[in-house]
Amino acid sequence: MAKKYTENRKKIFNLITNSEKPLNADQIYDILRPDVNLSTVYRGIEYLQSKKLIRSVSFGSVIKYFYSSNQHKHFLYCEDCHEIMVFNDCAAEKLQKAVTKKFNFNIDDHVFYFVGTCEKCQKKRGDM
Ligand SMILES: [Zn+2]
Ligand SMILES: [Zn+2]
Repeated sequence: MAKKYTENRKKIFNLITNSEKPLNADQIYDILRPDVNLSTVYRGIEYLQSKKLIRSVSFGSVIKYFYSSNQHKHFLYCEDCHEIMVFNDCAAEKLQKAVTKKFNFNIDDHVFYFVGTCEKCQKKRGDM
């Protein structure tokens, strides 16, 4: 039983780590079923988050998307089609230093994303 738990966690972790885009619980379940059920997915996610192996981002809704802690990612989120795009350039370091100093706050990480309209949806809007 315990071994099975570990295996499932590993599967969930590998899936999140190898995915270009962050994944939500339903998407993970869709890929891993029927080997793994949804409650196992949720429990696995909870465990991985408690160990800080994965991080989450939610784009103004209750749905959480998960990505690996050892990949520094930032996101573009299209409010029209809910597409998520990933970019890796980080401009936060300078700001982080300034804020750390000002508030005497120990920063571990940051979650950063832009919200807007993707190229496809801009074109669609233009057609109307
Ligand atoms: Zn879009
Ligand atoms: Zn960053």
